[in-house]
Amino acid sequence: MKLKDKVCIVTGAASGIGKAIAQTYAREGGKVVIADLNKAAAQAAADAIRASGGTAMAVAMDVTSEEQVDAAVAEVVAAWGTVDVLVSNAGIQIVHPVEEFPFADWKKMLAIHLDGAFLTTKAVVPLMQKSGNGGSIIYMGSVHSKEASVLKSAYVTAKHGLMGLCKTVAKEGGKHKIRANVICPGFVRTPLVEKQIPEQSKALGISEEDVVKKVMLKDTVDGEFTTVQDVAEVALLFAGFETNALTGQSLVVSHGWFMQ
Ligand code: NAD
Repeated sequence: MKLKDKVCIVTGAASGIGKAIAQTYAREGGKVVIADLNKAAAQAAADAIRASGGTAMAVAMDVTSEEQVDAAVAEVVAAWGTVDVLVSNAGIQIVHPVEEFPFADWKKMLAIHLDGAFLTTKAVVPLMQKSGNGGSIIYMGSVHSKEASVLKSAYVTAKHGLMGLCKTVAKEGGKHKIRANVICPGFVRTPLVEKQIPEQSKALGISEEDVVKKVMLKDTVDGEFTTVQDVAEVALLFAGFETNALTGQSLVVSHGWFMQ
């Protein structure tokens, strides 16, 4: 039980990677908060965890809204007293060539990925300082925190930006034992990726099969997708690691697509 009684907020946890992280944290004894735009799906994910013996609550949260983030964190504090782990995971994907990228879509991407990470961090850091126990803040980056791909200017910019936020939070958090790290997954077959396959096929003028083989998995060592559980295990490592020895870091989990 690596997270026994730790209060863990996971944003975007009603689906995909966040959902698997929430389940894994609950399995390890964490008190898990499923925070998502989609309240009904968040509630269903929390109910499923409770049904299998875990502890979970759902909160409605649009990570781009300071008001909603603060209200949801206040709800968590009212229920469970503090926050020990934050996984800033909520995210979307929008692809266009840069010269055609609608400015509104660009702003939406940066708001969800960067404003969301900032606002949730800002809300939990005072709680981690006050508890005296510190905490672990985990940002869901991507191989695109370190590498670029065509059509993804906003995503690549946002995911690189998270690296800067992480390093700063790690430096500021040191004296309070607040650790910050980034997980950088390769392609994981979640709804976010399923949506991109036909979009990229259209934009690049190639078949959907070729998008998977020749674009998404081209540089992996084995042509395999990374799984939600692969990413959840890394999220468990960062959340359960108790000292400042592991802070300000980023770990790529991508079947060798990107090697440092
Ligand atoms: P997903 O679409 O399965 O889940 C994303 C969740 O985020 C959804 O439940 C959605 O409701 C929620 N969400 C979206 N906007 C929100 C907002 N404004 N406020 C709160 N919640 C919001 O996607 P996923 O693939 O699990 O992606 C999760 C994270 O992992 C994202 O940050 C994504 O960029 C990152 N990532 C995904 C992959 C991949 O291949 N799937 C690879 C690297 C990184």
